[in-house]
Amino acid sequence: PGITLPLEYGTPFDDVLRRIAGTGEIIDAEQGIDAWLASRMARHRAPSGPQVQQVRGDRWMRLTERALEGGGVVILRTDITDTVHRERALEQALQSAERAERRLREAVNAMPAGLDIYDENDRLVLCNDQMTRWRPHLPVDESLGKTYEELLRDGLRHGIPEVAQGQEELWLAHEMALRGHRSGPEIRHYPNGVWMHMHERRTPSGMTVCVRLDISDLMEQRQKLEAARQESQRVWQLLERAVEALPVSIEIFDDQDRLVLYNQQLSRMYPHMNYAEHLGLQFVDILRYSVDRGLIPSAHGREEAWIAERMAEHGNRKSNLVQRLADGRWINIYETRTPENYVVAVRLDITDLIEQREALEAAQLAAQQARQLLQDAVEALPEGFALFDADDRLVICNAQYKLLYPISAPMMVPGSTFEEITRYGVERGQYLDAIGNEEAWLAERMAAHREARQAMLQRLPEGRWVQAYERRTPQGGTAGVRTDVTQLVRKEQELEAANAKLAMLSTTDGLTGIGNRRRFDDRLATEWLRCGRHHMPLCVILIDIDHFKLYNDHYGHLAGDECLRRVAQLLQACTRRADEVAARFGGEEFVLLLPDVGRAAAVAVAQRCMQSLHEAALTHAHSPTAPVITFSMGIASMVPRAGAASDTLVQAADAALYRAKSGGRNRFEVFDPEP
Ligand code: GH3
Ligand code: MG
Ligand code: MG
Repeated sequence: PGITLPLEYGTPFDDVLRRIAGTGEIIDAEQGIDAWLASRMARHRAPSGPQVQQVRGDRWMRLTERALEGGGVVILRTDITDTVHRERALEQALQSAERAERRLREAVNAMPAGLDIYDENDRLVLCNDQMTRWRPHLPVDESLGKTYEELLRDGLRHGIPEVAQGQEELWLAHEMALRGHRSGPEIRHYPNGVWMHMHERRTPSGMTVCVRLDISDLMEQRQKLEAARQESQRVWQLLERAVEALPVSIEIFDDQDRLVLYNQQLSRMYPHMNYAEHLGLQFVDILRYSVDRGLIPSAHGREEAWIAERMAEHGNRKSNLVQRLADGRWINIYETRTPENYVVAVRLDITDLIEQREALEAAQLAAQQARQLLQDAVEALPEGFALFDADDRLVICNAQYKLLYPISAPMMVPGSTFEEITRYGVERGQYLDAIGNEEAWLAERMAAHREARQAMLQRLPEGRWVQAYERRTPQGGTAGVRTDVTQLVRKEQELEAANAKLAMLSTTDGLTGIGNRRRFDDRLATEWLRCGRHHMPLCVILIDIDHFKLYNDHYGHLAGDECLRRVAQLLQACTRRADEVAARFGGEEFVLLLPDVGRAAAVAVAQRCMQSLHEAALTHAHSPTAPVITFSMGIASMVPRAGAASDTLVQAADAALYRAKSGGRNRFEVFDPEP
């Protein structure tokens, strides 16, 4: 209808085409008329089938050209605009349907849940990828088209679900009976530990939509939460029991000062109170309750003031509060305020403690008095006294004890050990016997101290002597008593010296000053035994002055005495060793006792005496033997035999002397046991 140009029969077809193209109606010709014309003419000359031509205004033609047998071409045009438009709309609808399905699939797969959709015949028609989590044994493609029952059986073969194991058929029957009739969602547990939340719904068109959600995380959290709840419940129970088991009472007041918690100990501590009823009451009311009943002695007569004071310090005290109850008990109260402004009060019955403390104080006082008594008693002693405990530490000592040991006195303080005190004295020369061998002396002293049995005499500076007595106490300590025995020791020493002098005098010859017969006899007895023990010879030389009667007669008795003294000194000088004795045997007779001297040595001694007398040249003008004093000597030496008497030796010497006399005097003779 857009082409209005006049066409005349006889116009060549290409001319017709060119004029039509020139109208701009033919869309294909818009690109270039010549090109379009060429291709159009080519098909015109050799028509091969219908062509579709677009005409302006979105109109479409179908051209059918056919060559006639007699030459010429017939062209049929059909307006197919409607058909083309319908097809296009269909195409678009299809494309948008595909797009919608793609989006749906995408969306379905993006769901965090598994989705199954079954048709009215219960065959699976749609299922998202999430479903492989619950049907890992069956790929999505293979599961499509199967019935719900077939899918369940597949699962059962793979042990899914766990709860069905061992009773598969029963479970299946139950499951199928419920199919489409579930009252609500279900939670299922899978063998791989997965918890699933399943929601099944039937659509109005008879489809079944099933949504599955993995709630393992939730379940795990729920279990943890449950465990935590049970734990906290358990801890709370424990706490409750602990609070009850405490040996103290506990009470807690909230931030409104209301009693919210207490334990049974509190009820027992204050039996007149009724805490079950006080629960929820304010502290001030509880205070008033107890004050009204006279339970607090310190509140008597000033109840309101006391309550005000107690309220002011409630939870604010820095120190414990000790409360005396009407029945005489003592309660220690400790209150503390929590950050939540609660007050926690702990009470402890300390009656026993207080009573013990009082008893202890009384005991301490008594001990102190006893100690003072002891000190007084110890000081009253005339002796030095010291007491050491089982650890050998000084407990007490009196002033006298310190006076006796002025050098070690600075160490005599309670707690010092006996050894410390003694060592201090030893190091400063307090013990004269210790000087030069301090350690050995100290060791011996400590041993004696430990023994604590015998008395000891101690030589101290300035000529002082102390007698030390030590005794073990039943507690393992040591009591020491020291007596100043200086006077006693001095007297004893004087006595000893006098005795020694007396002994000396009694064995001394008054005239000559040498030993007398008694000394000779004593020493003979001793040496006889000693030499006998040691198988040594013992020698006796008897000496008798020749013609002494004549000496007296001519020179007088006094001159005789003087002569005797000279001879005595001379003989005394002839003895050499300390154990040799020269003694006056009687009258003008003398004797030498020579231990460990045999005959030969005895002869030498006798010769020495003779020689000495000869040198003295004591004039004896009337002696028939010589003009000087001479003497005769009898020598005897023998090893004392067991059982033999010492007289044997003297008798032997006497026999030898007799022979010397009868042999002419002024000589010595040696006793020969086998003449
Ligand atoms: P003989 O050679 O035989 O021993 O002769 P003798 O005179 O020495 O012996 P006799 O026994 O006859 O005399 C001993 C004398 O010693 C007698 C006595 O007067 C004298 N005599 C004894 N004791 C003492 C004394 O103490 N002083 C003095 N002066 N003479 C005394
Ligand atoms: Mg004589
Ligand atoms: Mg004589």
